[in-house]
Amino acid sequence: TTFADLGLSPELLKAVEEAGYTEPTPIQAEAIPPVLMMKDIIGIAQTGTGKTASFVLPMIDIMASGRRRALMPRSLILEPTRELAAQVAENFEKYGKNHDLKMALLIGGVQMGEQLKALNEGVDVLIATPGRLMDLFERGKIMLNGCELLVIDEADRMLDMGFIPDIEFICSKLPENRQTMLFSATMPPPIAKLAKTFLTNPKRIEV
Ligand code: AMP
Repeated sequence: TTFADLGLSPELLKAVEEAGYTEPTPIQAEAIPPVLMMKDIIGIAQTGTGKTASFVLPMIDIMASGRRRALMPRSLILEPTRELAAQVAENFEKYGKNHDLKMALLIGGVQMGEQLKALNEGVDVLIATPGRLMDLFERGKIMLNGCELLVIDEADRMLDMGFIPDIEFICSKLPENRQTMLFSATMPPPIAKLAKTFLTNPKRIEV
């Protein structure tokens, strides 16, 4: 399989080439085509397998069309820690440099001013930790009903950190007819239950 076989746009293939990648990793080869076809997926993959690009690349193409609206992010990536959220943001900047997409990072430990300003201007891709997102939601600073795509990354670490109730709450505020991707290195019962509740006919990919 080559990147060109996966259905990504020419702009994205260029960014991938510039990143120096010659071929997709197994999770990328298996995940990108169904994600581009708007299907839900469960990716059972460790860090280091290239899983970040397996959702970031198709998201860039999916988000390339459509309009931004104030306070209503169009897609959401949940990460368990600030560090992981920042890494995913770096991936977006690297792969998305040929696209006109607005990304915002909602993490704790930093001033809210910039984050609120970004939300007001409209965001295509919001990368957040559950705590800060819940905080802003409860203050009425963000709406989740325009969010058509959700990624729950590192779900097993979310479980270890006690974030599952927050994730359930957040999922309940998103539109039901959204696309959802869940990534986890392992599938303990609470994660399997989360997937069963919030994903629709997911394709299961194990690498
Ligand atoms: P991840 O599993 O998402 O944390 O990615 C692990 C590392 O693999 C990152 O440093 C990526 O830049 C790199 N990477 C991702 N996809 C590819 C690829 N197709 N070819 C070579 N390296 C890649």
